[in-house]
Amino acid sequence: MSSNELDVHTLRAQLDGGLVLPGDPDWDGARQAWQLTVDQHPEAVVLAASANDVVTAVNAARATGLRVAAQGTGHNANPLGPLAGTVLIKTSAMRGVVIDAEARTARVEAGALWGDVTAAAAPYGLAGLAGTAADVGVVGYTLGGGLSWLGRKYGLAANQVVAAEVVTADGVLRRIDAQTEPDLFWAIRGGGGSFAVVTALEFGLVEVGELHGGTLFWPIERAAEVLHAWREWTASVPDEITSVGRLLRFPPMEEIPEPVRGQSFVVVELVSLLDGSETEAALASLRALGPVMDTVQPCTPQALAEIHMDPPGPVPGTGDGVLLNELPAEALDAYLSVAGPEADFPVLSAEIRHLGGGFAPRPAQGGAVTGFDAAYAVFSVAITPVEAAVKATHRGLDALAEAMRPWTAPTGYLNFAERAGGVPFADPGTLDRLGRVKAQYDAADVVRGNHPVAPARA
Ligand SMILES: Cc1cc2nc3c(=O)[nH]c(=O)nc-3n(C[C@H](O)[C@H](O)[C@H](O)COP(=O)(O)OP(=O)(O)OC[C@H]3O[C@@H](n4cnc5c(N)ncnc54)[C@H](O)[C@@H]3O)c2cc1C
Repeated sequence: MSSNELDVHTLRAQLDGGLVLPGDPDWDGARQAWQLTVDQHPEAVVLAASANDVVTAVNAARATGLRVAAQGTGHNANPLGPLAGTVLIKTSAMRGVVIDAEARTARVEAGALWGDVTAAAAPYGLAGLAGTAADVGVVGYTLGGGLSWLGRKYGLAANQVVAAEVVTADGVLRRIDAQTEPDLFWAIRGGGGSFAVVTALEFGLVEVGELHGGTLFWPIERAAEVLHAWREWTASVPDEITSVGRLLRFPPMEEIPEPVRGQSFVVVELVSLLDGSETEAALASLRALGPVMDTVQPCTPQALAEIHMDPPGPVPGTGDGVLLNELPAEALDAYLSVAGPEADFPVLSAEIRHLGGGFAPRPAQGGAVTGFDAAYAVFSVAITPVEAAVKATHRGLDALAEAMRPWTAPTGYLNFAERAGGVPFADPGTLDRLGRVKAQYDAADVVRGNHPVAPARA
């Protein structure tokens, strides 16, 4: 298939936004994802400015035997690959956010970033269940689940969704919720982007009072002592505290701030919804280990996006993760044998996120993935500007996955899976049901998610 077969003239005339084709001067910018390692070569890029544009793009692609892939930012574009035979629908111009403070909900357009929602909700004392980075897209993150700093208290972001506006493969714009198209509504909450193109999401916000957050830093040589202490500490912390144990090897790059540039640390990052004195008390045993830097302090919802030190803009990154059933001392030793200070682990960030609490599955709330039957999430990522670095990182990630195999949960986490294939993100029953929903709404597999769900055969 090629873009010549699209009726380019009519398509362009119908769009509120733009159409960019191979050879156009702005082609390279239009086809680029946030994730710079991926080299996307779709048949065309639709820069959607409205839900109508999405309808137009889906109809035009289907009519010419092409597929569509929706992309908000391209943070998880790696598994999509080169996009041959596909019209890429970029939603980044659709950033509208409306807060209903009384109902404690937000309605966001498909291209909204978490930073947009956090800034709009904060004046009302409200927050969405944002992840660590302000520039991650709300829709992609939420369709995959959504692990937030507030998550051990409030669960996955997907559980907060109350309605969605979507364009299905037949080109129909629908508003779906628990009563209207309930199967499709179930599938998109945790099942990813294979079922329809979302044009807007409506979801619940939580009230935020006192918030504390920040990071305790120690030299990486103390990794075993600190991470074992953190592991034991996570067994007793209340659900009001969400934390991450992490190894950081900062490259000597100018983009990295001076105090940490070129240095390596073991850190504990955390957010606490407890009050000041309760937070102090909860942190006492970690602080007794004498961190060389301690940034934990009262903070605003916006400041939560600084804690994890995510890159401020697009990067060439290679990462992947697994979920762990548990983290006994032997498991942490196995982790450190591959990722610890003595190991040659070519990765900038190797993190273990504490799950449990609100992250436990909540089937009664209805989405395809409502939580994790797992106690910790492991994710590692490297900056990989050249192919050799990508390969070396994959070898490191594979070695870590192999070391953790005895404790690895049977299902993975869709948002932390940055390679195609791998561990399934849901149990067989859920995957079967997702396949049936896909067959009902998109039997010809027009809509392409980064972690595809194939239509079940009739
Ligand atoms: C720096 C960084 C920090 C992160 N922090 C966290 C974190 O704290 N917690 C967490 O859970 N995850 C986190 N992630 C992972 C993140 O949630 C995933 O990468 C997620 O898929 C990003 O969504 P996006 O819309 O920004 O990316 P995209 O790559 O644009 O979207 C990913 C996929 O979502 C689907 N999708 C996107 N938009 C639509 C749409 N309009 N309609 C239908 N499907 C759509 C598509 O299948 C698409 O391929 C982080 C990732 C990075 C790179």
